[in-house]
Parts: sequence; C-alpha cells; structure tokens
Amino acid sequence: MNALPPPFEKPPAAVAAALRPIRPLPDELVSQIAAGEVIERPASVVRELIDNALDAGARQITVRLQAGGVRAIVVEDDGGGIAAADLPLALQRHATSKIASLADLENVATMGFRGEALAAIASIADVTVISRTPAASHAIALQARTGELAAAARGVGTSVDVRELFFSTPARRKFLKTDATELAHCVEAVRRHALVRPEVAFAIWHEGKLVEQWRAADSMAQRVRDVLGAAFIEASVAVDAPAARPGTISLRGFAGIPDAARSRADQQYVYVNGRFVRDRLIAHGARSAYEDVLHGQRQPVYVLFVATDPRRVDVNVHPTKIEVRFRDGREVHQAVRHAIESALAHPRAAAGSTPAAADAASPLREASAAAPPLVLRSGWETVVARRQPLSLDDLSTLRVEEPAAPWPAASAPLAAQQAPQPVPAWPLGRAIAQLGGVYILAENTQGLVIVDMHAAHERIVYERLKAAANSVAMQAQALLVPCTFAATALEIATAQAEALTLQELGLDVTPIGPTQLAVRSLPAALADADPAALARSVLAELQQPGGASRAVQRARDDILATMACHGAVRANRQLTISEMNALLRDMERTERSDQCNHGRPTWRAVTLKELDTLFLRGR
Ligand code: ADP
Ligand code: MG
Repeated sequence: MNALPPPFEKPPAAVAAALRPIRPLPDELVSQIAAGEVIERPASVVRELIDNALDAGARQITVRLQAGGVRAIVVEDDGGGIAAADLPLALQRHATSKIASLADLENVATMGFRGEALAAIASIADVTVISRTPAASHAIALQARTGELAAAARGVGTSVDVRELFFSTPARRKFLKTDATELAHCVEAVRRHALVRPEVAFAIWHEGKLVEQWRAADSMAQRVRDVLGAAFIEASVAVDAPAARPGTISLRGFAGIPDAARSRADQQYVYVNGRFVRDRLIAHGARSAYEDVLHGQRQPVYVLFVATDPRRVDVNVHPTKIEVRFRDGREVHQAVRHAIESALAHPRAAAGSTPAAADAASPLREASAAAPPLVLRSGWETVVARRQPLSLDDLSTLRVEEPAAPWPAASAPLAAQQAPQPVPAWPLGRAIAQLGGVYILAENTQGLVIVDMHAAHERIVYERLKAAANSVAMQAQALLVPCTFAATALEIATAQAEALTLQELGLDVTPIGPTQLAVRSLPAALADADPAALARSVLAELQQPGGASRAVQRARDDILATMACHGAVRANRQLTISEMNALLRDMERTERSDQCNHGRPTWRAVTLKELDTLFLRGR
C-alpha cells in the first residue's frame, strides 16, 4: 500500500522453491504440519488426550505432568481401551473409530472425529500408548517411534504417555513459556472438560504432587462449585432456558451477577453440545444481556451449556474445534441474550433469594408478598406520554401511595409491641435511618442493609419507564418533513436488506438515490430523536452479529435512563421512614434493582456476624 519494496537482487528462496517439481509430502511431514495447527503447547496435548478418554467412556481420568507438561504428559483413563490389532491404526493419520461417512460427520456426537491427534502428537514427541480392552487378558504397549509392540501391565483402559514435546521442532519449543505458565494452561484445559462432564472424576498431578482433583459429581451445579469455587456459585444465578420447540436451542448454566464481573474475560465458559468453544456470537449475545446492568469495560462471568440439534451446527470449521458455525446465528444470539437477561432480571433483593426469606411459612413474608403493589403506573404513563423529564413533584405525588402498613407489625399481637420489634423477613429489612443524606440504613434478619437511595430509585424509575414505554415504543410516527442524509453503500444495502426489521422498529428508512437515504418515520418513543443519527446507529447495529431489534431499544433505553436519573430522588433529600420503607419494598419487586442504571450496586449488606468480627466479639 505504502512505499514499493526495494527491487530484488536475487529471486527470494520462495520463488526458487516454486520452480521445483510437484511432489506429495512425506507422511511424517504432513503430520508435523497438522501438529502445527492443532498442538500449540502442552495444554493442547492434554485437551486432545482427554477428548479421547471421554470418547472412550472413561469415568476417571488422571493427568500426570512434568515440567509443565513439556517433559512429560501422561493421561490415564478407565475407558473401553483399544484392541491390540487396532493399536497401530490409532497412531495413523486419518484413522478413526468415530466416523465412517459424511452423514456421520454431520451428526457427530464425539469430541474427536478427524483421526489426526495421536498421529500429530507422535510426530512431534515421544509417544507410548498402553491399552487394554475388557476382553483382553493383558495390556499392550505400542512405542510410536519404533512401532514396537510389547505386553504390559495395566487394568482396562488406556494410558497415553507423551515425552519431550516439540523435541524435533525446536522453533516451536522456543515459544513455550515458563513451566508454571504451561502448567496453568494444562490445568485450564482439564477444567474446561471437567465443567461439562460432572459424572467423570478428574485428577491432575505435577511432579508427583496433586494439583487439582474433582470427584465425580451428581449435578452440574456441584461440579461448577467444585471447579470454580463456592464464591462463583454464590455470586451467580441459574440460567435455564429449555428448547422452545423440539430441535431448537436450549441453554443451561450459571451467569454471574454484575457485581461478580471482572476486568478480564477469563471466566466465560461456553459449551456447544458438550464442546468448549469460543464463539463471538454467543459472547456478544451474553454481553448484550448485561448491557443494562453492567457498564464500561467489565467482563461478566458465566458457564453456559448450549444444546442444539448437531445438524444445525458445524463443528468442523477450526483445527482445534474451538470455533463452530451455527446455521441460524440470529436464533442463537437471541436465545443466549434472552436466557441470561431473564435470569438476571430477578433482583437478589427479592423475597426468596436470601436464606432468611426462603422460609416460605413465615407469615411476615406472606404479608409482604400480599401487600398491594404501588400504584405508580398510571402516573408514569402520563409522564411518558408527555415525554418530559420527571420532576420531584411527580415523584412525591407518586411515592406517597405506599402499602397501608410499611411493615406488617399490625398483624403481630398487641403484647408483642412492648417487646423489641421483630425484624420482618423482608430481604432488605425495615428502614431505621438515613445517613449523610445519601444512604438508607435498614435492619433485616441477617444484620445491616445499606442502600444508595438515589442509585436504587433511579433503577426503579427507569424500569418503570421501560415497562410503560414498551407498549407504544415501537409504533411508527411519521415525520412531517422526511429527513434525508448522505449514506454509504453499506448503509444503503443494509437499509434495503433489513427493510422489514426497520419497519417493525417503527423506522422507515429508504434509499432515494445511490448515496442518499430518507427517514420518513421514527418509533413513537423516540419521536424527538435526531432522525439521521438514529437511522445511522440503527443501521450500524443491524450490521452487528444478532444486531437486529437491539438498536432502537438501546437508543430508547438511553433516553429513558436519562429521564430516570432526573427523576430519581436527589441526595440530601430528607425521607421519612415510611418513604424509605416504600423504596425498599419497591426494590424488592423491581427487576435488575441490584444495580443502578450505570451498573453500580444499589445496596450492600453487613451481617451481624461481620459486625461481631469487627468488634472482636466472641473471641
Ligand atoms: P480421533 O479422536 O479424531 O478419532 P485420534 O488420533 O485422537 O483421532 O485417535 C485415533 C483413534 O484412537 C480414535 O478414533 C480411537 O479409536 C483410538 N483412541 C485414542 N485414544 C483412545 C483412548 N484413550 N481410549 C480408547 N481409544 C482411543
Ligand atoms: Mg481424538
């Protein structure tokens, strides 16, 4: 593109080589080339060998490593083994027991299917395979380098012993990191398998020391807890979205709450039909589910098991099978987004989500559940219809309509009122004070709850605006004067291809020449938006994976969020105890109320136990 390269003195080596006659490459070299794609580091070997063990039906897999796996990787399993006669074939290129036809490939249910891994590994390391089938009287060992077969001792199953990885390809060896780093990658490779196969026990040893061990678990939740820790489970919500129709996509797993997000995307485990994948579409769908509760660069954490008809996903698109291709990407994107979005919508501040409130028999809890909802809807709808920023007056008139009893002390016998008041089972407890004009302090059965009143109220107002706006948001409102603007060829093509989607969004965007688009209508909720800017951003969204339908909603949400911020109670405003209680009850039933519109937490809890520790009590 820039300056021309200097003229060659001599033709470069590549040009000279092209003049040689064409010859097939020797088998060994073909395998080494394949290994270059599949085996990047010791962890790649671990991944391939565990794939094989799982395909063989293993229930116990042990990985033994030396020097981060560079010196030795031994994977032992108790699977079905390899018959003596087949053993040499296992190491041959393109020899597999897993598929036999193109139809099999389209329906593949095993981890492996190319018959390439063992051959590739044997071309760049010293490999010995020891295996025994249930029918065999003893095990057989095959030394890959020499082809030597010998009787060996082991139970039913297979051990693959890989020594001196990359010994013949020193260039590759130079790319390896420290033993500790390579070990960490190996452990991560096992972890990825372990998460999706709870029924299989895994152990990892390094230099004779046990590094990790996961016993067979009887549930996915248990295995996730074992592998990622109790903290991961406690800071996440279950995702469970069964297939809408037979053969369509289903999702299970755990999505971390916004508070659990990290600065790096290093805890995002996605599986498609049991295979760990990195998929842009799914990652984008998941991130967009967090859009409304997680702002900035924070990365959500999740473990997602996506299941779909194997014929609707191509797993044969990447050498290490870490990428897949979906027949219907849009369906996948939406399914992922919806499943996570609805899992996250339920606030943790809601009844039933804390241990104290889980006591369903509690009359207090029933009383709270039976309390009439605040009648704010009609007021907000008026406000939305007027499309004006909310004033504090609007709020105060709306907020006074709280449940008759701020907490159900009325149901307690009169005598009890002399004694210290019982703490209601409401998750966010009862308000006791306002602090610094900013925080509400409340007492629940666990201890102290601190609420950022502006942040919390902002979310409540925002969610209410969204609910009120939903019904009318997408109706088209014609512009008195169409707005024309200069557009790129891609924008014009997108406007034509997505005309129907645009229409559904209430947007009429049509080409009026080779370089011009005209906007004739806008969604009613955004009637005040700049038509050209909105059309441009919607068209840009439509070019994104799964972008359709997201754009207008996002633009609308932005406007509503701004309105909500104006509408929410300001700092330094004195609230009465019953106003505070009304806000707490509102939080408990508002979706996404654990985060404000900017993704910050709206409340924190300090348990009595933590307070005891703070005061060195009970030591
Ligand atoms: P693929 O897994 O794609 O078939 P591999 O090169 O990984 O290719 O393995 C070749 C064959 O060796 C497999 O198809 C399988 O029959 C056999 N094999 C490899 N590892 C094991 C194992 N641990 N237990 C039983 N059979 C195995
Ligand atoms: Mg394999």
